[in-house]
Amino acid sequence: MCSPKSDERRLFLALWPENRERRQLAELAATAAGRRRVPDANLHLTLVFLGATPADRLTAYAAALADLSVPRLELLLDRYGHWSRSRILWLGSSHTPPELYELVADLHRRLRGCGFAPERRTFQAHITLARKFPGPAPAQPPATPIRWPVEDVALVESLRDRTGSRYQVLRRWPGG
Ligand code: ATP
Ligand code: MG
Repeated sequence: MCSPKSDERRLFLALWPENRERRQLAELAATAAGRRRVPDANLHLTLVFLGATPADRLTAYAAALADLSVPRLELLLDRYGHWSRSRILWLGSSHTPPELYELVADLHRRLRGCGFAPERRTFQAHITLARKFPGPAPAQPPATPIRWPVEDVALVESLRDRTGSRYQVLRRWPGG
């Protein structure tokens, strides 16, 4: 793997669960995936993957997101899925609110103004519960779906250490 240039940081925009939702997500991950689950502290929903980002680009992104407004929305996480190629077990919604897609489109519009080229893959709202998961997904949906009221978008840095990836929230919009 190429080592990143010294001023580049690996970044993404995400919905970042508060403690209550994180606890509930962690419980589902433990039930559905056992030992293979993503560490509790890493559970999140990626909105836009920014990748390796130089400092000046980060400044431009922050300016473009400064007046971001996040529509009132609530995610109802009520279904599991499994992607066999990437061996990912995920949690998602059978009715992802249109406002979430609009939020992602708004983020793309703002970032495009800074030269960011969004991925061509369509956005699929999901929370990765486990990696290297052979599948299949649990046959039954979660007994108690999780309600996640969304309030803001987090800018998160992905850091690597000996144990794998860990994440650090750098900023949130709208800011409090
Ligand atoms: P690791 O790569 O160590 O297995 P990870 O995938 O969680 O862990 P990152 O690769 O830094 O860590 O990814 C951070 C977030 O961005 C994750 O939600 C990941 O699924 C998502 N992501 C990573 N690469 C891409 C990509 N090319 N396109 C879309 N989303 C991505
Ligand atoms: Mg990765």
